Amino acid sequence: MRQSQLFTKTRKEISGEEISKNAELLTKAGYIHKEMAGVYAYLPLGQKVIQNVIHVIRDEMNKIDGQEITMTALQEKSLWEKTDRWDDEKVDVWFKTKLKNDTELGLGFTHEEAITRLMTQFIRSYRDLPVYAYQFQTKFRNETRAKSGIMRTREFIMKDLYSFCTTKEEQENYYEKAKQAYINIFNRLGIGEKTYLTFASGGTFSKYSHEFQTVCDAGEDEIYIHDGKKIAINKEVMLPEVLNDLGIKEEELRIAKASEVGNIFNLGTKFSEALDLNYVDEKQEKKPVWMGSYGIGPARVMGVIVELLSDEKGIVWPNEVAPYALHIVTLGKKDSDSYKKAEEVYNKLKDHGVDVLFDDRELSAGEKFADSDLIGIPMRAVVSDKSIASGGVEIKERKGDKSEIITEVQLIKMYTNCCDDCH
Ligand code: ATP
Ligand code: MG
Repeated sequence: MRQSQLFTKTRKEISGEEISKNAELLTKAGYIHKEMAGVYAYLPLGQKVIQNVIHVIRDEMNKIDGQEITMTALQEKSLWEKTDRWDDEKVDVWFKTKLKNDTELGLGFTHEEAITRLMTQFIRSYRDLPVYAYQFQTKFRNETRAKSGIMRTREFIMKDLYSFCTTKEEQENYYEKAKQAYINIFNRLGIGEKTYLTFASGGTFSKYSHEFQTVCDAGEDEIYIHDGKKIAINKEVMLPEVLNDLGIKEEELRIAKASEVGNIFNLGTKFSEALDLNYVDEKQEKKPVWMGSYGIGPARVMGVIVELLSDEKGIVWPNEVAPYALHIVTLGKKDSDSYKKAEEVYNKLKDHGVDVLFDDRELSAGEKFADSDLIGIPMRAVVSDKSIASGGVEIKERKGDKSEIITEVQLIKMYTNCCDDCH
């Protein structure tokens, strides 16, 4: 992508109402646009980042046999009445709407009901189980507070996976696999070190659910961390009984602010019983299906990455999330040698399928570097008269200060598996 063609521009100042660091940096760098409080549009750079986050999550969900689907935002009142989750007294985040004939509909804030009913079409016998299905879909929640930028919005994409099993044991085994998949996801997304498997309230069927909480000043939750075991306890369930269950003493814990990036639940047979999702076992006996649900908010993850990894100059993306693998910055005017050299390297990398942002704009070096730091691509390659005189291009990692000169061929080889003959 030529930066001169990117319709977004970086901004030095944004209106004073953005109070969260993630929204401020992402807006200044041109990743997102605030439509209204708690509602954001994703611009070309932001779209690439959120899709990269989604790609990592999808990859790990496929590895644990998830089958991808897309359910609907529009939801029927009668379905949600069956589980007693339609009433605004019971669920206070619904956005509701109406058909022309006055039939009430809701905009889904989660999808247990929808998928349980859907599965009654396909699950009949033990031979049809287990089934794992997931989606990336827009959820609507009428959140009271929306002050954490893209970490808490009223319309957001969620990855929600649902598991359907014959027995409690089968369900619990899958739950452990999902737990490991979540750990892999947060490691790949660069926030693994600060993300804690957190014991939280389990609802009706199991004693606990597990949240994945990332320690972060902008987080809205409080967790008690045990560094030795690398686990945490959500403030809501910080009780003597829980400490006892986990073999932990209160004085071994430290409190921290954190953001819930993921949540996994054993649902037991609550939804299958309410919505008649049964199977017949080997002895022809009818039994309710065991279920689990597993959520992650890609945008909240993206916000947390910005909160944790940015510095005073701007964003610092981990490799798997970055909108581009490399930022080529030329300091030469169009038609100068250094401009042509930069363009040549850009074209070669592009031909090899490497995603590169090429700053081909005629601006001062200071302005270009400031923009590059703000946007936060992990590696920058500067092509200038000076770098050419020293033997090639000057490369520098976004997160460090060290730079070095390498040849164009070396740069191309860093991003492709090509042999010398190609270049
Ligand atoms: P919170 O307690 O922060 O409101 P939640 O427990 O209600 O979240 P879940 O229903 O567990 O959220 O949703 C699964 C995941 O979806 C969360 O772990 C989080 O990553 C993400 N998520 C939830 N609410 C939002 C939101 N308003 N904006 C962005 N992401 C969200
Ligand atoms: Mg949750």
